Amino acid sequence: MEQESTEHKSTELRSTESTGTGLRNTGLKDTGQKKKNRKSKRKTKRKKKKISRKISVHIHLDGKSLLLGIAAGVLGVLLVMAVLSRCSAEEEKTSGLDVDASEPDISVQLLDINEYSRPGTEADPITGVVIHYTANPGSTAQQNRDYFNGLQDGHGTSVSSHFVVGLDGEVVQCVPTWEIAYASNERNHDTISIECCHPDETGKFTDATYVSIVKLTAFLCAKYGLNADAVIRHYDVTGKNCPKYFVENEEAWAVFKADVNAALEKGAGDSENKGEEHE
Ligand SMILES: [Zn+2]
Repeated sequence: MEQESTEHKSTELRSTESTGTGLRNTGLKDTGQKKKNRKSKRKTKRKKKKISRKISVHIHLDGKSLLLGIAAGVLGVLLVMAVLSRCSAEEEKTSGLDVDASEPDISVQLLDINEYSRPGTEADPITGVVIHYTANPGSTAQQNRDYFNGLQDGHGTSVSSHFVVGLDGEVVQCVPTWEIAYASNERNHDTISIECCHPDETGKFTDATYVSIVKLTAFLCAKYGLNADAVIRHYDVTGKNCPKYFVENEEAWAVFKADVNAALEKGAGDSENKGEEHE
């Protein structure tokens, strides 16, 4: 019971307070309350505004970050492309040879004119240089030249090449550059052919042979106003696995062409006049 009465008292007190408040609520105090209400409404509005501002700012930031994300993505893609192009540029790197496009030493040993290896037919304007390998491991440039010349004795085979590059880098010329040779099938009429010796079955050239092929090819390109794009493999004409090493190793072929271009960029240099004139 005591508890109840205590509660009752406190209720009474509260009601007195509320009555008091009620009295005060009339008149000026009432206006004050309204102001308070308005204030609190304003506050609420402001809060709402703040919230909406926050939201809008948040959305704005989201837009920004979206744009930043896209920009970062684009930059990322560009970076990857740059790296890839750098890699492909690296693939086009030369092997660092110190070779220019001046005329190499050439041993001119023209074949006898004959229907099997030197028909004496005038070539069309030269538009390319075709690289071959002998497919006869260990054979020398001289042996290959002599084989071509021996075909006139009726072996039935028709084959030859304008140039043969030997195992020691020696260059033998078999057919004048203004005549066709029998080397590159449907491209015989407008290309110069270079037959290259190799020591073994892999078809890989010795360093000396390689340097000479680069130099001779660059010299011929310079002579006919061509660049390395005009240098092709027998494979590119007929699909034959020739020159084997450059067909089976595309990277080595790319480096070879880059080496030819680098030699062309160096130009003919101060070519000391090297004895025999080639034909
Ligand atoms: Zn070939």
